[in-house]
Amino acid sequence: MTRIILKKGREESLRRFHPWVFSGAIAQVVGEPAEGDVVGVFAYDGSFLAYGHYQIGSIAVRVLSFSGEDVLGPDFWTAMISRALKVREAAGLASNPLTNCFRLVHGEGDGLPGLIIDWYDGVCVMQAHSVGMFRAKGAICDALRNVFGDRLKAVYDKSSGTAPFKAGLDLVDGYLFKADGFSDDEQVVLENGNRFLVNWTEGQKTGFFLDQRENRALVGSCSKGRTVLNLFCYTGGFSVYALNNGALRVDSVDSSRKAVEMVGRNMELNGFDKDRHSDICADAIDFLRDVPEDKYDLMIVDPPAFAKHRGALNNALRAYQRLNAAAISKVAPGGLVFTFSCSQVVDKEAFALAVFSAAAQTGRSVRILDRLNQPADHAVNIYHPEGEYLKGLLLYVE
Ligand code: SAH
Repeated sequence: MTRIILKKGREESLRRFHPWVFSGAIAQVVGEPAEGDVVGVFAYDGSFLAYGHYQIGSIAVRVLSFSGEDVLGPDFWTAMISRALKVREAAGLASNPLTNCFRLVHGEGDGLPGLIIDWYDGVCVMQAHSVGMFRAKGAICDALRNVFGDRLKAVYDKSSGTAPFKAGLDLVDGYLFKADGFSDDEQVVLENGNRFLVNWTEGQKTGFFLDQRENRALVGSCSKGRTVLNLFCYTGGFSVYALNNGALRVDSVDSSRKAVEMVGRNMELNGFDKDRHSDICADAIDFLRDVPEDKYDLMIVDPPAFAKHRGALNNALRAYQRLNAAAISKVAPGGLVFTFSCSQVVDKEAFALAVFSAAAQTGRSVRILDRLNQPADHAVNIYHPEGEYLKGLLLYVE
């Protein structure tokens, strides 16, 4: 196995269990690792620090183990997935009759950097964000079968949009496992008793944005008697909760035609009257411009990540400010605005500042009723605070 020797003093962050080795910290590479190989990382004095996946780029190693356990042996993946499942059990998600979909593995949050696995009532959809995880997908699939046995219906690999495209991998999405008799590319799941159709082959990410589960429940609890505008609605997650909890009417807006079609199917699935809902395929900002003032007294603003890397931060903050100013200026007096950012590089203080500037721009009186974040299954490793990415504010606009 290749040995990576760090420069003197550069082992500190690994000793504090931060799971990345930056290329600038490396003194010597003993061997010729290919991208995705498991390598050993050692301090300058030769002491063992970690095993991890080697990658090309500014993050050179992503750590799989600090303890020196056998990360190449057959039991490693089974043990790690069992540990991840235990966390979901502790959070009340793994055997909940009202919620049968959750994130099973959340990368660094579960000690498996570069790996995402979402559970949709027996269907596991995985996305590898690194070559190492992509190459391990067969072993990961075997481990899922070990852990879940008969409960596992299928394992679908959806890494074509997430694995490094420059690495020359054979990036074709497909099933790694299908139980006898299982044939669909979509199925109905339950989230807090709400029904959703999830299509992992056609949908965005793994098929559904599981990270908004608790915020959707909060929207539900505030929806009675309100007229709701769900901007960036995707397949209508927030809309279904609002309608199931007494919203008078919900309009759902997304620029993706496929997503908007799914909203219609989810409305039907939940049996809502057509006159309580419309699905609109449009750019959210254009739509907001033409919204009459006072029409909506609950708005959800959940855009895609505006900043995918640090270089895009300032533009992203300006975009959040513009979008939120438009929403705050249009919501009816006494209305609520649920506003979110899922950009990892925009921290909660920066986001709050952008929303504060937006509110100031409108001149309206705005109170923060709640601060929102990602749920327990999108686990944050305490040694890797960068894993916290979803943040939101619940605003009351007078
Ligand atoms: N709130 C959703 C998740 C939103 S993800 C849920 O609970 O499931 C972000 C969504 O924004 C995606 O569906 C994407 O298609 C949509 N989108 C991206 N740019 C947009 C734009 N300019 N106008 C409207 N929708 C947009």
